[in-house]
Amino acid sequence: MYRVTPGLTFSKRNRSKLISLFTERSRLPPKDPESVIQLLAGELRKSVKQRDCALRTDSLFERRNVFRVEYESRVDWDGVIHPLGTNYTDGFRIVLRSGQPIHRLRFTIAHELCHTFFYELVPELKFCPHSIDQKEETLCNIGAAELLVPTNQIKRLARSVPISIETLEDLAAQYQVSAEVMLLRLRSVGLWETELTIWRAAPGGGFRLDRIVGGSSVKWEWTDDSVLKPAWDRARTTQGRTYVQYREDNGGLKLKPVSYQVVRRQDSLMALWDHPATKWPPQSLPLFDKELGSPIPGTAPAADLTIDQDSSFAANDPAKVFHSSFEC
Ligand SMILES: [Zn+2]
Repeated sequence: MYRVTPGLTFSKRNRSKLISLFTERSRLPPKDPESVIQLLAGELRKSVKQRDCALRTDSLFERRNVFRVEYESRVDWDGVIHPLGTNYTDGFRIVLRSGQPIHRLRFTIAHELCHTFFYELVPELKFCPHSIDQKEETLCNIGAAELLVPTNQIKRLARSVPISIETLEDLAAQYQVSAEVMLLRLRSVGLWETELTIWRAAPGGGFRLDRIVGGSSVKWEWTDDSVLKPAWDRARTTQGRTYVQYREDNGGLKLKPVSYQVVRRQDSLMALWDHPATKWPPQSLPLFDKELGSPIPGTAPAADLTIDQDSSFAANDPAKVFHSSFEC
Protein backbone atom coordinates (compact mmCIF):
# COMPACT_ATOMS: atom_id res chain seq x y z
CA MET A 1 0.00 0.00 0.00
CA TYR A 2 1.34 3.41 -0.86
CA ARG A 3 1.57 6.04 1.82
CA VAL A 4 4.29 8.62 2.07
CA THR A 5 7.16 7.21 4.08
CA PRO A 6 10.35 9.02 4.98
CA GLY A 7 13.52 7.99 3.19
CA LEU A 8 15.50 5.48 5.23
CA THR A 9 18.74 3.67 4.84
CA PHE A 10 18.67 0.47 6.78
CA SER A 11 21.57 -1.56 7.96
CA LYS A 12 21.84 -5.31 7.48
CA ARG A 13 21.20 -5.78 11.18
CA ASN A 14 17.81 -4.07 10.99
CA ARG A 15 16.53 -5.89 7.93
CA SER A 16 13.41 -7.98 8.22
CA LYS A 17 13.38 -11.53 6.89
CA LEU A 18 11.44 -10.27 3.87
CA ILE A 19 14.06 -7.66 3.00
CA SER A 20 16.96 -10.05 3.57
CA LEU A 21 15.44 -12.71 1.31
CA PHE A 22 14.50 -10.12 -1.30
CA THR A 23 18.10 -8.86 -1.44
CA GLU A 24 19.65 -12.32 -1.43
CA ARG A 25 17.37 -13.86 -4.04
CA SER A 26 17.69 -11.01 -6.50
CA ARG A 27 21.19 -12.41 -7.20
CA LEU A 28 22.28 -8.96 -8.13
CA PRO A 29 25.75 -7.74 -7.24
CA PRO A 30 24.70 -5.04 -4.77
CA LYS A 31 24.22 -6.30 -1.27
CA ASP A 32 22.00 -3.46 -0.13
CA PRO A 33 18.26 -3.59 -0.83
CA GLU A 34 18.11 0.05 -1.98
CA SER A 35 20.51 -0.67 -4.86
CA VAL A 36 18.71 -3.92 -5.66
CA ILE A 37 15.31 -2.28 -6.05
CA GLN A 38 16.88 0.51 -8.11
CA LEU A 39 18.47 -2.01 -10.44
CA LEU A 40 15.26 -4.01 -10.80
CA ALA A 41 13.22 -0.86 -11.47
CA GLY A 42 15.87 0.45 -13.86
CA GLU A 43 15.86 -2.79 -15.87
CA LEU A 44 12.06 -2.80 -15.96
CA ARG A 45 12.03 0.74 -17.30
CA LYS A 46 14.62 -0.12 -19.96
CA SER A 47 12.59 -3.16 -21.04
CA VAL A 48 9.85 -0.97 -22.53
CA LYS A 49 12.31 0.89 -24.75
CA GLN A 50 10.32 4.08 -24.89
CA ARG A 51 11.88 7.33 -26.05
CA ASP A 52 9.86 9.79 -24.01
CA CYS A 53 11.13 10.94 -20.67
CA ALA A 54 7.70 10.42 -19.13
CA LEU A 55 7.18 6.72 -18.51
CA ARG A 56 3.93 5.22 -19.79
CA THR A 57 3.07 3.31 -16.65
CA ASP A 58 0.41 1.18 -18.33
CA SER A 59 3.10 -0.29 -20.58
CA LEU A 60 4.47 -2.11 -17.53
CA PHE A 61 1.32 -3.83 -16.33
CA GLU A 62 1.63 -6.90 -18.50
CA ARG A 63 5.33 -7.20 -17.83
CA ARG A 64 4.65 -7.38 -14.10
CA ASN A 65 1.56 -9.59 -14.36
CA VAL A 66 -0.86 -6.83 -13.40
CA PHE A 67 -4.06 -7.99 -15.10
CA ARG A 68 -6.59 -5.63 -13.54
CA VAL A 69 -6.54 -1.97 -12.52
CA GLU A 70 -9.52 -0.60 -10.62
CA TYR A 71 -10.45 2.65 -8.92
CA GLU A 72 -12.16 3.29 -5.62
CA SER A 73 -13.31 6.51 -4.03
CA ARG A 74 -13.68 7.38 -0.37
CA VAL A 75 -10.61 5.43 0.76
CA ASP A 76 -7.79 6.76 2.92
CA TRP A 77 -4.96 5.24 0.90
CA ASP A 78 -3.67 6.00 -2.58
CA GLY A 79 -3.14 2.51 -3.91
CA VAL A 80 -2.95 -1.16 -3.01
CA ILE A 81 -2.00 -4.35 -4.85
CA HIS A 82 -3.79 -7.68 -4.41
CA PRO A 83 -2.61 -11.04 -5.74
CA LEU A 84 -5.19 -12.80 -7.91
CA GLY A 85 -4.01 -16.23 -6.87
CA THR A 86 -1.34 -17.99 -4.88
CA ASN A 87 1.72 -17.39 -7.01
CA TYR A 88 3.34 -14.74 -9.17
CA THR A 89 2.06 -16.09 -12.48
CA ASP A 90 -1.57 -15.84 -11.31
CA GLY A 91 -1.13 -12.08 -11.51
CA PHE A 92 -2.28 -9.03 -9.59
CA ARG A 93 -5.02 -6.44 -9.27
CA ILE A 94 -4.05 -2.84 -8.49
CA VAL A 95 -6.67 -0.65 -6.85
CA LEU A 96 -6.16 3.12 -6.98
CA ARG A 97 -7.90 5.95 -5.19
CA SER A 98 -9.86 7.88 -7.77
CA GLY A 99 -9.37 11.61 -8.03
CA GLN A 100 -5.65 11.68 -7.30
CA PRO A 101 -3.69 14.38 -9.12
CA ILE A 102 -2.02 12.82 -12.15
CA HIS A 103 1.54 13.11 -10.79
CA ARG A 104 0.56 11.45 -7.55
CA LEU A 105 -1.33 8.73 -9.42
CA ARG A 106 1.71 7.96 -11.55
CA PHE A 107 3.90 7.64 -8.47
CA THR A 108 1.32 5.41 -6.80
CA ILE A 109 1.18 3.08 -9.81
CA ALA A 110 4.98 2.90 -9.98
CA HIS A 111 5.08 2.14 -6.25
CA GLU A 112 2.52 -0.68 -6.53
CA LEU A 113 4.39 -2.16 -9.50
CA CYS A 114 7.51 -2.38 -7.34
CA HIS A 115 5.63 -4.54 -4.83
CA THR A 116 5.44 -7.24 -7.50
CA PHE A 117 9.20 -7.80 -7.14
CA PHE A 118 8.67 -8.80 -3.51
CA TYR A 119 5.86 -11.21 -4.47
CA GLU A 120 8.05 -12.71 -7.15
CA LEU A 121 11.19 -13.10 -5.03
CA VAL A 122 9.74 -13.95 -1.62
CA PRO A 123 6.43 -15.71 -2.38
CA GLU A 124 6.30 -17.71 0.86
CA LEU A 125 6.03 -14.48 2.87
CA LYS A 126 3.95 -12.41 0.46
CA PHE A 127 1.30 -14.89 -0.62
CA CYS A 128 0.08 -15.47 2.92
CA PRO A 129 -1.45 -13.05 5.42
CA HIS A 130 1.20 -10.54 6.44
CA SER A 131 1.48 -7.12 7.98
CA ILE A 132 2.87 -4.08 6.18
CA ASP A 133 6.68 -4.01 6.18
CA GLN A 134 7.65 -0.35 6.32
CA LYS A 135 11.04 -1.12 4.80
CA GLU A 136 9.34 -2.71 1.82
CA GLU A 137 7.21 0.44 1.50
CA THR A 138 10.32 2.62 1.54
CA LEU A 139 12.00 0.40 -1.05
CA CYS A 140 8.92 0.63 -3.27
CA ASN A 141 9.15 4.43 -3.05
CA ILE A 142 12.82 4.23 -4.07
CA GLY A 143 11.91 1.90 -6.93
CA ALA A 144 9.04 4.14 -8.04
CA ALA A 145 11.37 7.14 -8.17
CA GLU A 146 13.83 5.14 -10.30
CA LEU A 147 11.09 3.95 -12.64
CA LEU A 148 9.75 7.45 -13.21
CA VAL A 149 13.06 9.34 -13.18
CA PRO A 150 15.97 7.01 -14.00
CA THR A 151 19.23 7.91 -12.26
CA ASN A 152 21.40 7.82 -15.38
CA GLN A 153 19.05 10.05 -17.36
CA ILE A 154 18.56 12.66 -14.69
CA LYS A 155 22.28 12.82 -13.92
CA ARG A 156 23.05 13.44 -17.58
CA LEU A 157 20.29 15.98 -18.07
CA ALA A 158 20.63 17.95 -14.89
CA ARG A 159 24.41 18.17 -14.72
CA SER A 160 24.64 21.01 -17.21
CA VAL A 161 21.56 23.05 -16.32
CA PRO A 162 21.35 25.74 -13.67
CA ILE A 163 19.82 25.13 -10.27
CA SER A 164 16.58 27.08 -10.34
CA ILE A 165 12.84 26.79 -9.93
CA GLU A 166 12.49 26.94 -13.68
CA THR A 167 14.82 23.97 -14.16
CA LEU A 168 13.00 22.05 -11.44
CA GLU A 169 9.62 22.65 -13.03
CA ASP A 170 10.90 21.87 -16.53
CA LEU A 171 12.36 18.55 -15.42
CA ALA A 172 9.26 17.69 -13.41
CA ALA A 173 7.07 18.44 -16.43
CA GLN A 174 9.24 16.36 -18.77
CA TYR A 175 9.00 13.34 -16.49
CA GLN A 176 5.42 14.05 -15.39
CA VAL A 177 6.25 13.96 -11.72
CA SER A 178 5.67 16.56 -9.04
CA ALA A 179 8.30 19.20 -8.30
CA GLU A 180 8.71 17.54 -4.89
CA VAL A 181 9.55 14.14 -6.41
CA MET A 182 11.94 15.74 -8.89
CA LEU A 183 13.70 17.70 -6.15
CA LEU A 184 14.18 14.52 -4.11
CA ARG A 185 15.60 12.79 -7.19
CA LEU A 186 18.04 15.62 -7.83
CA ARG A 187 19.13 15.43 -4.20
CA SER A 188 19.36 11.65 -4.13
CA VAL A 189 21.66 11.50 -7.16
CA GLY A 190 23.89 14.09 -5.51
CA LEU A 191 23.38 16.93 -7.99
CA TRP A 192 21.41 19.37 -5.84
CA GLU A 193 21.49 20.08 -2.12
CA THR A 194 18.61 22.49 -2.47
CA GLU A 195 15.58 22.54 -0.18
CA LEU A 196 12.11 23.26 -1.49
CA THR A 197 9.58 24.99 0.72
CA ILE A 198 5.92 25.68 -0.03
CA TRP A 199 4.21 28.66 1.65
CA ARG A 200 0.60 29.76 1.91
CA ALA A 201 -0.83 33.12 2.80
CA ALA A 202 -1.75 33.19 6.50
CA PRO A 203 -5.22 34.49 7.43
CA GLY A 204 -3.78 37.27 9.61
CA GLY A 205 -1.24 38.36 7.00
CA GLY A 206 2.19 37.06 6.15
CA PHE A 207 2.87 33.50 5.04
CA ARG A 208 2.96 30.14 6.79
CA LEU A 209 5.12 27.17 5.89
CA ASP A 210 2.99 24.45 4.30
CA ARG A 211 5.69 21.86 3.69
CA ILE A 212 9.43 21.45 3.30
CA VAL A 213 11.01 18.95 0.91
CA GLY A 214 14.58 17.73 1.27
CA GLY A 215 17.03 18.59 3.99
CA SER A 216 16.11 18.74 7.63
CA SER A 217 12.60 18.61 9.00
CA VAL A 218 13.28 21.74 11.05
CA LYS A 219 10.63 24.37 10.46
CA TRP A 220 12.80 27.18 9.18
CA GLU A 221 11.11 30.53 8.76
CA TRP A 222 12.07 33.68 6.93
CA THR A 223 13.66 36.28 9.18
CA ASP A 224 11.84 38.78 7.05
CA ASP A 225 9.04 37.45 4.89
CA SER A 226 8.97 40.65 2.89
CA VAL A 227 11.05 38.65 0.39
CA LEU A 228 7.88 36.69 -0.37
CA LYS A 229 5.64 39.67 -0.95
CA PRO A 230 7.07 40.72 -4.36
CA ALA A 231 6.77 37.16 -5.65
CA TRP A 232 3.17 37.05 -4.47
CA ASP A 233 2.15 40.50 -5.68
CA ARG A 234 4.11 40.77 -8.88
CA ALA A 235 3.72 37.14 -9.89
CA ARG A 236 7.31 36.73 -11.00
CA THR A 237 10.34 34.94 -9.72
CA THR A 238 12.30 36.87 -7.15
CA GLN A 239 15.70 35.86 -5.92
CA GLY A 240 18.47 36.97 -3.61
CA ARG A 241 20.18 36.15 -0.34
CA THR A 242 18.80 36.25 3.15
CA TYR A 243 18.75 34.43 6.48
CA VAL A 244 16.23 31.86 7.61
CA GLN A 245 15.69 31.06 11.25
CA TYR A 246 14.08 28.70 13.70
CA ARG A 247 13.47 28.85 17.42
CA GLU A 248 14.92 25.91 19.37
CA ASP A 249 13.05 24.25 22.24
CA ASN A 250 15.34 26.01 24.72
CA GLY A 251 14.43 29.39 23.20
CA GLY A 252 17.69 29.87 21.30
CA LEU A 253 17.50 31.31 17.81
CA LYS A 254 19.29 29.53 14.95
CA LEU A 255 20.09 31.42 11.79
CA LYS A 256 21.12 30.05 8.41
CA PRO A 257 22.27 32.10 5.41
CA VAL A 258 20.63 31.01 2.15
CA SER A 259 20.29 31.99 -1.46
CA TYR A 260 16.64 31.89 -2.40
CA GLN A 261 14.34 31.90 -5.39
CA VAL A 262 10.61 32.36 -4.88
CA VAL A 263 7.75 32.13 -7.33
CA ARG A 264 3.98 32.12 -6.96
CA ARG A 265 2.05 29.12 -8.20
CA GLN A 266 -1.72 29.52 -7.87
CA ASP A 267 -2.48 30.05 -4.18
CA SER A 268 0.94 29.16 -2.83
CA LEU A 269 4.54 30.24 -3.04
CA MET A 270 7.32 27.90 -3.98
CA ALA A 271 10.77 28.74 -2.62
CA LEU A 272 14.14 27.12 -3.22
CA TRP A 273 16.86 27.53 -0.63
CA ASP A 274 20.44 26.80 -1.46
CA HIS A 275 23.95 27.57 -0.33
CA PRO A 276 24.53 31.27 0.19
CA ALA A 277 27.05 31.27 -2.67
CA THR A 278 24.60 29.89 -5.24
CA LYS A 279 24.39 31.99 -8.36
CA TRP A 280 20.88 31.87 -9.73
CA PRO A 281 20.50 32.07 -13.51
CA PRO A 282 19.41 35.41 -14.94
CA GLN A 283 15.69 35.89 -14.70
CA SER A 284 13.47 35.52 -17.76
CA LEU A 285 11.91 38.30 -19.71
CA PRO A 286 8.27 38.71 -18.69
CA LEU A 287 7.32 37.72 -22.22
CA PHE A 288 8.46 34.22 -21.40
CA ASP A 289 7.08 34.02 -17.88
CA LYS A 290 5.01 30.97 -17.12
CA GLU A 291 1.28 31.37 -17.19
CA LEU A 292 -0.14 31.81 -13.74
CA GLY A 293 -3.19 30.33 -12.14
CA SER A 294 -6.16 32.39 -11.13
CA PRO A 295 -5.22 35.47 -9.19
CA ILE A 296 -6.14 35.48 -5.52
CA PRO A 297 -9.47 37.28 -5.15
CA GLY A 298 -8.96 40.94 -4.44
CA THR A 299 -5.48 41.09 -5.91
CA ALA A 300 -4.64 42.53 -9.27
CA PRO A 301 -2.91 40.33 -11.82
CA ALA A 302 0.70 41.15 -12.44
CA ALA A 303 0.83 44.34 -14.42
CA ASP A 304 4.23 45.72 -13.55
CA LEU A 305 6.52 42.97 -14.73
CA THR A 306 9.72 44.94 -14.69
CA ILE A 307 13.06 43.56 -15.77
CA ASP A 308 15.96 43.76 -13.35
CA GLN A 309 18.69 42.90 -15.79
CA ASP A 310 19.87 43.78 -19.19
CA SER A 311 17.61 41.99 -21.67
CA SER A 312 20.63 40.41 -23.35
CA PHE A 313 20.80 38.02 -20.40
CA ALA A 314 17.51 36.45 -21.40
CA ALA A 315 18.70 35.64 -24.90
CA ASN A 316 21.56 33.68 -23.36
CA ASP A 317 19.58 32.23 -20.50
CA PRO A 318 20.74 28.59 -20.24
CA ALA A 319 17.40 27.60 -18.78
CA LYS A 320 15.73 28.70 -22.02
CA VAL A 321 18.20 26.85 -24.21
CA PHE A 322 17.50 23.83 -22.03
CA HIS A 323 13.82 24.00 -23.02
CA SER A 324 14.53 23.26 -26.63
CA SER A 325 17.54 20.96 -26.32
CA PHE A 326 16.09 18.57 -23.77
CA GLU A 327 16.24 14.93 -24.82
CA CYS A 328 16.00 11.86 -22.63
ZN1 LIG B 1 3.08 -0.03 -0.72
